[in-house]
Amino acid sequence: MQNRYHCGHAEHKQIAGSDWHASAIQFPCPACLRAMAIGQRKHTTAYVNLQQIGAAMASFVVEVSDATAALGELLSRQGYCSSSPARDELTHAAEAGRDGQVWRKEYHFGSDTPPHFVMALMQTIKQEVTILSEYCPALDGAVAFMAFPRRNADLEANLFAEHGSLEDAWHASAAMQ
Ligand SMILES: [Zn+2]
Repeated sequence: MQNRYHCGHAEHKQIAGSDWHASAIQFPCPACLRAMAIGQRKHTTAYVNLQQIGAAMASFVVEVSDATAALGELLSRQGYCSSSPARDELTHAAEAGRDGQVWRKEYHFGSDTPPHFVMALMQTIKQEVTILSEYCPALDGAVAFMAFPRRNADLEANLFAEHGSLEDAWHASAAMQ
């Protein structure tokens, strides 16, 4: 028997069985939540950035801005926390100001992690934001990658020496799919 989202639409086969899907099925489907976001004139955007946490720690940070209340509730079930937006790679968001403007999830790793593990982590994040983009009015265009005005060239060179740049690594991880 086919599972159905809360709205009654059939589940997406490609994400059935994923961690995301286990709670997503309890909500309206991506198309219904996207229609709700359009109705509310939301410009929901998912920002993926790399951030230095300390001398030996880095993290990929996913921040979702301008989400509907319903999408926010779904994101909270996926491990996202209501937070203030990060400003750049050098300032951790906890220091950055008011709460409640974005939904944020962080994937921490040691800055000496071998590049192929970092690439695998990037791949996981990419799958998540691909699913997430289906909930956003702009679809694929709702994902902004490395849009910080200030970036940490040393950290990026350290982690992605093989690929030349973080953007190249991100696109290389797409090719692995
Ligand atoms: Zn639906």
